[in-house]
Amino acid sequence: MTILEIKDLTARVAATEDAPETVEILKGVNLTIESGQTHAIMGPNGSGKSTLAYVIAGHPKYEVTGGTVTLDGENVLEMEVDERARAGLFLAMQYPTEIPGVSTANFLRTAATAVRGEAPKLRHWVKEVKEAMSDLDFDPAFSERSVNEGFSGGEKKRHEILQLDLLKPKIAVLDETDSGLDVDALRVVSEGVNRYKAEENGGILLITHYTRILQYIKPDTVHVFVDGRVAASGGAELADELEANGYEKYLTPANA
Ligand code: ADP
Ligand code: MG
Ligand code: MG
Repeated sequence: MTILEIKDLTARVAATEDAPETVEILKGVNLTIESGQTHAIMGPNGSGKSTLAYVIAGHPKYEVTGGTVTLDGENVLEMEVDERARAGLFLAMQYPTEIPGVSTANFLRTAATAVRGEAPKLRHWVKEVKEAMSDLDFDPAFSERSVNEGFSGGEKKRHEILQLDLLKPKIAVLDETDSGLDVDALRVVSEGVNRYKAEENGGILLITHYTRILQYIKPDTVHVFVDGRVAASGGAELADELEANGYEKYLTPANA
């Protein structure tokens, strides 16, 4: 059993010499995710959902100004990015990064080596990747292409879920994995997430704009995320209410 606990988390864009003035984006986030649970976060554009995902993963662009994040009691905020991955945290990014000159095969093997603590045996690894790609209807030819370079939106998202399958984290943060997917890709990607859930009993934080993906990946809990914090939480029915009525009643006066 793994538990990720986020308490009173506040964060802003890290100040730089060029931009010394930054404002708080996360304004006191409270959230607890356990193995086997799926939490959906829904909220308007610009409310800080991706910032929350990046802060959990340890992106250097953001500076935590208060609160705590712990994984089974260990202080996540003190860990380097690679330590967080080894501890079992995973982020599927909303806008996956292109890495020209690095093949997808090499990237995946390097990531697996870092997370597992040793390089996977080559013959076994090749089979593992082949199966995982086939499960995601992902053409094996992508192995030899540079990471995400020239990938379509759907191919980038498939590549994120391929990593999920291969790295087997304890807690996975999926940031708008549904955006830009057609119905077939959405189904394939959702099935990948559900396999991860069933096989690894992973905890999932699913950030989304749309209830469409929640028809494939059933959330236990839905959180409304507005203005840098969780404004309300409920069961799966809350997603339908949001779809019907929008976020208006959750907006604070300053944002309404
Ligand atoms: P969401 O994912 O909910 O759409 P984001 O976390 O991407 O929201 O952004 C929240 C707010 O923080 C936005 O106003 C955005 O412009 C700002 N922001 C996020 N990252 C940065 C950054 N690196 N530099 C400047 N502003 C940022
Ligand atoms: Mg976002
Ligand atoms: Mg598999």
